[in-house]
Amino acid sequence: MDCALCGGSRFGRLWDCGEFSFVRCLRCGLAQQNPQSEPEAVHSRYDAEYLAYEEANQAAYRDLELLALADLGLQAAAAPAFASAAARGSKPRVLDVGCATGALLDALRDGGWDPQGVEISAAQADYGRKRYDLPIHAGTLESAAFPEGSFDLVHASHLIEHLNDPASFLDEAGRVMKGDGLLILTTPNASGLQARLFGPAWRSAIYDHLYLFSTRTLSSLLASRGFAVAALVTWGGWARGLRPAFLKRPLDRAAKRFGFGDVMAIMARRAE
Ligand SMILES: [Zn+2]
Repeated sequence: MDCALCGGSRFGRLWDCGEFSFVRCLRCGLAQQNPQSEPEAVHSRYDAEYLAYEEANQAAYRDLELLALADLGLQAAAAPAFASAAARGSKPRVLDVGCATGALLDALRDGGWDPQGVEISAAQADYGRKRYDLPIHAGTLESAAFPEGSFDLVHASHLIEHLNDPASFLDEAGRVMKGDGLLILTTPNASGLQARLFGPAWRSAIYDHLYLFSTRTLSSLLASRGFAVAALVTWGGWARGLRPAFLKRPLDRAAKRFGFGDVMAIMARRAE
């Protein structure tokens, strides 16, 4: 398989994780599993068992995501979309791809957005429809086949690292976005402190993650699909439970300030 970012075909060993391993593209540096499992094998794992986990953690994930959106400056960036929607007597539209239980969409609706979800797990999509009364398409973004230019904001948290073909995902996200729309992605940061320290034992170096982006490789992938990065934040210097625990507060603070956090969120627009 050629590199999803640059099309390169030469890879160097990065991390051996036992049953699977990560390599690094020698041309662009993108970390990836290669070969990769087929999409169907990946999808089939997001079943009812996964729902119990997501349901238990949905409030915590929602709150983290809301903080990331605030840090990215979403409110100011989306102000024009709110103004033009209000002029039409409607609301700006947000699409959350991989919306899980829908807890974040529910909060965004409270903030004045008109929500739409996409979720690969039928059990979670069903949960979100019933619990939050949200419109959620069960399937992939491509299978939803939204009309071109439908959304003011396309959001995907902890999704892009799971996809075999992140470039096509960005193309489809760009297609369903309005011309002046916003794209926000959240994903583990392979250039963060914990990835560098722990290598193959990093908590995000798992079988489900087909790609591990650094701030640089994710920015390059976005640029290669016609997006321009408007804001980037990282957070999480030291995971809860890691020892020594006294490092958590200073490292969390420093990670946010200097950009070596464990997770990154990136906001992009269509390039001019
Ligand atoms: Zn490459």
